[in-house]
Amino acid sequence: MTSSEPKTKSSSVTSDDTDRNNRKPPSNFIRHLIEQDLASGKHGGRVQTRFPPEPNGYLHIGHAKSICLNFSLAEDYGGHCNLRFDDTNPAKESQEFVDSIKENISWLGFQWHGEVRYASNYFEPLYQFALELIEAGKAYVCSLSPHQAREHRGTLTEPGIDSPDRDRPVAENRVMFERMRQGEFADGEYSLRAMIDMASPNINMRDPVLYRIRHIEHHQTGNKWCIYPTYDYTHCISDAIENITHSLCTLEFGDHRPLYNWILQSLGLESLRQASDLVDSDIQYVLPEQTEFAKLRINYTMGGKRNLKDMVETGVVQGWDDPRMNTLAGMRRRGYTPESIRNFCEMAGVARNEGVVDISMLEHCIREDLDRKAPRVMCVLNPLKVTLADIEKGQVTQLEMAAHPKNEAMGKRSVPFTREIYIDRNDFEEVPPPGFKRLIPGGEVRLRGAYVVRCNEVLKDEQGKVVELICSVDKDTLGKRPEGRKVKGVIHWVSVSEGLPVSVRLYDRLFDAENPEAKSITDYRDCLNPSSLVELQQCIAEPSVANTATAVGFQFEREGYFCIDQADSMNERLVFNRTITLRDSWGTANK
Ligand code: ATP
Ligand code: MG
Repeated sequence: MTSSEPKTKSSSVTSDDTDRNNRKPPSNFIRHLIEQDLASGKHGGRVQTRFPPEPNGYLHIGHAKSICLNFSLAEDYGGHCNLRFDDTNPAKESQEFVDSIKENISWLGFQWHGEVRYASNYFEPLYQFALELIEAGKAYVCSLSPHQAREHRGTLTEPGIDSPDRDRPVAENRVMFERMRQGEFADGEYSLRAMIDMASPNINMRDPVLYRIRHIEHHQTGNKWCIYPTYDYTHCISDAIENITHSLCTLEFGDHRPLYNWILQSLGLESLRQASDLVDSDIQYVLPEQTEFAKLRINYTMGGKRNLKDMVETGVVQGWDDPRMNTLAGMRRRGYTPESIRNFCEMAGVARNEGVVDISMLEHCIREDLDRKAPRVMCVLNPLKVTLADIEKGQVTQLEMAAHPKNEAMGKRSVPFTREIYIDRNDFEEVPPPGFKRLIPGGEVRLRGAYVVRCNEVLKDEQGKVVELICSVDKDTLGKRPEGRKVKGVIHWVSVSEGLPVSVRLYDRLFDAENPEAKSITDYRDCLNPSSLVELQQCIAEPSVANTATAVGFQFEREGYFCIDQADSMNERLVFNRTITLRDSWGTANK
């Protein structure tokens, strides 16, 4: 590198990594709670968490936050984290989603404890527990249709009305429930409900449904069942069976916590222990406890599986893994690394109240990671031909350049230098604006890692468009300052004959509006960023991009970070996705 090339802050990669590994995670209210519980021995000194996705869609960045939280807590406090598919609604679920979720969690770098679990593994014990509730007079079979049941439920200001079946004798409830299981009734004809309190101010406690009839095949249990337990009924019991100590969920489940506790307490510690993983162990068995935290929300994005699904189905994006989607599949294809996502989730913190995280923080995290890891290459996005008149035709000189300016261990690359090269159109101005430091007619500029060149002639086509520059080379400037003058600008370039034609997709934020879900916006499609994807077909990259096997992307010098699109680079032509530009507004504002 020459002395006149811009210097980058130097920080050694190894010491960065060491800092990262030794770093103590920032504390938060859940960590405090766990530390208190460990100190008091509340859960027998254990920490057992779980990540419970419903396999009805692809994971998004919000899920990553829950994954990072649950898995890191287990890791940091010497516990375990289970992966449990919360698969109680077969109509919307599928094996495809199960597989992609497992794959995403592994990609993020987490390993669940033991086998993958499914709530559907527990359908039999759940059924037996329902019979126990019936025997105890705490559940009954109800004949109200879903519509009638809604009408009986009351409102926030009015109590509900008791079901006419609330007094059905226990023996009859048992028989009816068994007949439900046997498939004697049609969908919606009966349900099993908890008997709690139709006048409760908490609507979740107004005799909630525990089982519904659904004659539908399940991706794990096939046609074994035609009654399916509800989420609320299943979740707490599954936690108890797996000896979860800290059951973490998002705020909207706060109002469900009384029901979570009611079900477990109604069944009782001993009965649950008998069904649990700890039945043959000396380890103290305790009931799990639910704690809620705020969902991750990021400005300029839309969260939630439902919204993402809508964007896919209405063609706003090209699929679940469109690089503009904040699904893990999309972010991965965009070039996000697992480390950057984990780091972001940690930085975003864990809060009790809803807040919005600035997207520039996420962008900062990926820049920071790629700055350390991505090899540097040159790629010209909008080529303008330059002929270097004093270089011989056919001559190819291999110039050695560092793969990374701050990390010698990444080695060197060879960059072929020839008489004809491309530079970026934006690096030449016939009528330069004030302060323009790059190439102008009669002016000089340094070619990155090579020589200082002077523009002697500007060739134009019939329309007056610049089509070529004729330049001379100061051959005494390779790795040296030019004699007697200063050349400030440094631009990137690629050899015409040796360069590799590639396609480049410039991705940007999908939305123009800070909150596409705001009430004032009737349709989120009205605030799409029209330039969230710009495709460039005429780009030309230095040849080393083709033989540098890199799981992380490249830095295209002066342009940004890019990765090879794995799906669309099948043919001989490579397709690059821009992960992120170079400029970091968050990093500078917050350091
Ligand atoms: P969505 O809101 O996208 O439909 P969900 O909560 O219905 O998500 P699940 O598969 O039920 O999706 O979620 C699995 C876990 O991820 C749950 O514990 C849920 O609370 C958590 N989770 C979902 N979205 C977020 C988010 N934005 N921030 C943090 N955790 C989240
Ligand atoms: Mg859900």
